[in-house]
Amino acid sequence: MAARRKLIAGNWKMNGLKADGLDLASDLAGRLAGAGAVAFDMLVCPPFPLLFPVGDAISGSPLALGAQDCHAKTSGAHTGDVSPVMLTDAGCRYVILGHSERRADHAESDAQVAAKAAAAHKEGLVAIICVGETEAQRDAGQANAVVASQLKGSIPEGATAANTVIAYEPVWAIGTGKTATPDDVKAMHAHIRAELAGKTADPDAVRVLYGGSVKPGNAAELMAVENVDGALVGGAALKADDFWAIATSC
Ligand code: PEP
Repeated sequence: MAARRKLIAGNWKMNGLKADGLDLASDLAGRLAGAGAVAFDMLVCPPFPLLFPVGDAISGSPLALGAQDCHAKTSGAHTGDVSPVMLTDAGCRYVILGHSERRADHAESDAQVAAKAAAAHKEGLVAIICVGETEAQRDAGQANAVVASQLKGSIPEGATAANTVIAYEPVWAIGTGKTATPDDVKAMHAHIRAELAGKTADPDAVRVLYGGSVKPGNAAELMAVENVDGALVGGAALKADDFWAIATSC
């Protein structure tokens, strides 16, 4: 099996106006272009209103564009929602689905995540499906069972390494400054890899990212963990220097 290429994905969440997004994306695109051959793929996921301007600004660059959610339908009476085809129209290649903030703020279920991922696949998008336990679930010894259940419910039929990325994001580590230990990450990523068998056509080739307070200071150690195929980065993705330092630590 070919080695899995690392993916460094920036989740901008609900941050930034047009000028900020253009500055950040153009800066990163410039660094990527100047770096020549690199050992990672880099992705930015701005808020919906910034997808078109940022997509236009980085068009033709190796910096990829993604969104933070999509609807499961192509069009219709779904006020406030955005469909997968609208994302590809803006230049997106990826979409983050089932982030814990959406599962919490919008009560998104595994079944909804699976339906969105299936719709994203149909449109040619790579779905980054997020899973992860809460602190209470970890303390109760339920982390493996919770993540296995989320994977079972959230990965749609037809998932492959080409159209699906998994992001393990322990909820207690997101935006808190707390990071899972390399040993905990290694154990969970091995668990996820084993659980992917039967749920994807080519489980050994699927990229499994770690997310949760990844910073320049801890990235190298986390990215070196077995079965960690990149990072989903929130806060540190909003500063070009920090995001670049994380990517180049691979
Ligand atoms: C995230 O939002 O996916 C995330 C991992 O955030 P942070 O890096 O800020 O913890």
